[in-house]
Amino acid sequence: MKILVTGGAGFIGSNFVLHLLKTYPGYELINVDALTYAGNLDNLRAVESLPQYRFVHADITDRAALASLFDEGLDAVVNFAAESHVDRSILQPDLFVRTNVLGTQVLLELAREAQLQRYVQVSTDEVYGTLGATGLFTEQTPLAPNSPYSASKAGADLLVRAYHETYGLPVNITRCSNNYGPYQFPEKLIPLMIERALQDQPLPVYGDGLNVRDWLYVEDHCRAIDLVLHGGHPGEVYNVGGRNERNNLQVVRTILQELGKPESLIDHVQDRLGHDRRYAIDADKIRAELGWQPQHDYESGIRATIRWYLDNREWMARVRSGAYRVPQQPSASPG
Ligand code: NAD
Repeated sequence: MKILVTGGAGFIGSNFVLHLLKTYPGYELINVDALTYAGNLDNLRAVESLPQYRFVHADITDRAALASLFDEGLDAVVNFAAESHVDRSILQPDLFVRTNVLGTQVLLELAREAQLQRYVQVSTDEVYGTLGATGLFTEQTPLAPNSPYSASKAGADLLVRAYHETYGLPVNITRCSNNYGPYQFPEKLIPLMIERALQDQPLPVYGDGLNVRDWLYVEDHCRAIDLVLHGGHPGEVYNVGGRNERNNLQVVRTILQELGKPESLIDHVQDRLGHDRRYAIDADKIRAELGWQPQHDYESGIRATIRWYLDNREWMARVRSGAYRVPQQPSASPG
């Protein structure tokens, strides 16, 4: 198979690239990434010289750059590329519409023209909005996004659906809960808190800290996308989540305990605008239809993650100093 992965220099995308190249050494993989602040080629050092892997520095809204890759003949596209941080979307929603909605539409259009056999859109449970104290998101839950980020992801999902209904494009959408694990940019809760705790800096917790997320180890998400890529039924949406509901305070306390730091570092700050209260995923469909099962429970996953950040201080130092960034000139030329 020849697969185009977009956003493969980001957190989940790079974990997926590593997973795919390890699991299917016979596959050819092209990774297209615009290398925004969230793209980090350090994540891919282990595979960058493999002959079956190629990095292309391009923006998914750049139709011409992408068209030349489709012209090579692709078997599948997995779209991770996105602006992904809710707080940034509140400050700069236009950027989110551009990449998440327009970028997805460019990919869909090229996929349609190329009569692509498999298109996987990596989406999020945030498109469903927020839950009360009980209940779970199923694939039938109506979309009710509350942030510019989730609205842009929901917009993309609707386009993906429309390309299936209108043109018969064989698409799938995965909607996963919050991920954690290696290579996550330290603006997101878990690496941010680890990093700040290690430096004895206050840990900013939004509002009362009781917002609940359903945490999943990134490798389990990658395995779910792998199963959808290979066996998803065309047009279907698959929720992905491990039933690991924890509120933010619980997550932060675990990190402090593991690192031997005091709870006095917790600093309650003003809540995020429109902050969703609770997410929780019903993943019965992907379990029943594709045989997916998470392999990491939360307790061991969070410990492994803390250990990874402790063992990879150099990775974090290069992120902190900005040394991980390459000059910002996306080009159409492969390589
Ligand atoms: P990330 O921010 O770490 O990575 C995004 C990647 O996309 C970066 O490498 C960035 O350079 C690239 N990118 C951004 N704009 C681009 C553009 N215009 N063209 C090409 N590349 C571009 O994000 P992540 O956490 O790895 O999330 C990946 C995907 O998974 C996103 O679509 C996100 O919505 C979804 N998702 C994330 C989570 C989570 O917990 N992180 C959960 C569910 C779904």
